[in-house]
Amino acid sequence: MILGCIADDLTGATDLALMLSREGLRTLQSTGLPDKEIDLSQCDAVVIALKSRTIPVKEAIDLSLTACDWLTKHGAQRLFFKYCSTFDSTDQGNIGPVAEALLDRLKSDFTIACPAFPATGRSIYMGQLFVNGIPLAESPMRDHPLTPMRDSDLRRVLQRQCKSQIGHVAFADVDQGADAITAAFAREQSAGKRLVIVDAITNAHLREIGKATAALPLVTGGSGIAIGLPEAYRALGLIKTLSPPPARLDAPQGRRAILAGSCSVATRGQIANAQNAGLPHFRIDPFAVADGTCTTKKILSWIDSLPADALPLIYSSDDPDHVADVQAKLGREKAGLMIEHLLADLARNLVDKGYTRLIIAGGETSGAVVEALGVGLLEIGPEIDPGVPWTKSRSGPSLALALKSGNFGTPDFFIKAWDRLS
Ligand code: ADP
Repeated sequence: MILGCIADDLTGATDLALMLSREGLRTLQSTGLPDKEIDLSQCDAVVIALKSRTIPVKEAIDLSLTACDWLTKHGAQRLFFKYCSTFDSTDQGNIGPVAEALLDRLKSDFTIACPAFPATGRSIYMGQLFVNGIPLAESPMRDHPLTPMRDSDLRRVLQRQCKSQIGHVAFADVDQGADAITAAFAREQSAGKRLVIVDAITNAHLREIGKATAALPLVTGGSGIAIGLPEAYRALGLIKTLSPPPARLDAPQGRRAILAGSCSVATRGQIANAQNAGLPHFRIDPFAVADGTCTTKKILSWIDSLPADALPLIYSSDDPDHVADVQAKLGREKAGLMIEHLLADLARNLVDKGYTRLIIAGGETSGAVVEALGVGLLEIGPEIDPGVPWTKSRSGPSLALALKSGNFGTPDFFIKAWDRLS
C-alpha cells in the first residue's frame, strides 16, 4: 500500500476509491477498520470509510487517528483525508480539527485543503467555493439540515475550526503549474501557515496540485484532488507502474436483484425506466410494513414465484408528497430505519438463497445492507457511472455489489450495469 485514505462517510469513500482506481491504483475500501488481517499484496491504496462528518469533534478525531495508525502500520507512505466537495462542516469542525490532529500524528507541519471537483461543478477561486457556478453560501447547501454552509470563503470557514493559521494559494500561482504551486507552498509555510486553501477550476489544475503535493505526508480534500496523485506518486518513484482500471468485474455466479430505498429523483427515474423495460417489480408500502402485512417473507414468496432467471426490483422509493405523508404519520427516523431494516433483512435472505449480484440504491440503504451482509471489505471494480463502481466483497459472502448513492447514475442504470459483469 502506498496511499492510506480516511473518508468521513461511506458514499464519499466509494467516490474516492473509484477515482483512485480510475487513475491506476488498485484500491480496497473498508467500512470502518478491517476487523482482521487482510491481504494487501495486490493493493496500492486503502480507503477507510468512517461515519465522522457530523459526530462530536473529539470522536471524529479519535476515529480518524485510529484509522491513521492502522494505515501507517500497514505500510501507507502517504495519507489522504477525504471530506465532501461542498466542505460540509460547522464552526466546530470536523474538517479542521481532524486535519490538524492528523498533521500532529504524522509529525508534519503543512498540508492543503482543496475540495474542488470540477467534474461535479465544484470549483474554488480566490478561496471561494462555487457549486455549479453559485457561491457555496447561496447554493442549496445553505439550508443543509446538519451542516448549513453560510460562508463561501473557505479560508474563513477553516480558520474558525482551526488553531493553526490558514493560508491560501490563489489561481494565479495554481495556473502556472506545479513549480509555482510548490513555491507558493514554501511562501505560505514560511509565513507560518499550516493549512492552505488551494484554488482550482479545472482538472489540469488538480493534476498540477497533485504533483506539488506528492511529497506531503498528508493531503486533504474532496475526491477531485485525488485525480493527480497516482501519476504524481509514480513520477516520484513511490509506485513502479499504474494499473489500468478494470473494464469488467469477474463476479461470482448466481442470481441478480435490485433493492432501492432511495427516494431521490434519479433513483425514481431509474425505477420507472426498469418498469418500462419489463422488469418484475415489487413496491414496498411503508404503512403495510408498519402494520405487519408487508414482510421479508411476503417479498420472498413473490420472488419465488418468478422464473429463475428473472431480475426482480424491490423498492420503497416514492415521490416527496407520499414520503412526507409517511414521515408525518410514522415519524421520519422511524420510517427510514424500518425500511432500511426490511431491505437489509431481505438482502441477507437473498444471499442465503444464492443471490450473488446485487444493486442497492441509496446511501443509508447501502450502509444498512452492507452491515447486515457483513461485507466490510470491498475491492473496487469497473465504473458503471460517475461515482458508482461495481465492487466485489473481500470479506463475508462472495458478492458483486453496486452501492449507488441515490442521485447518481443515468436513467438506464438498473439495466446497463449488468453488462460490466462477467
Ligand atoms: P439517498 O442516497 O437517495 O439519500 P438513502 O438510502 O440515503 O437514499 O435515504 C433514503 C431514506 O429514506 C432511507 O432512510 C429510507 O429507508 C427512507 N425511505 C425509503 N422509502 C421511503 C418511503 N416510501 N417513505 C419514507 N421514507 C422512505
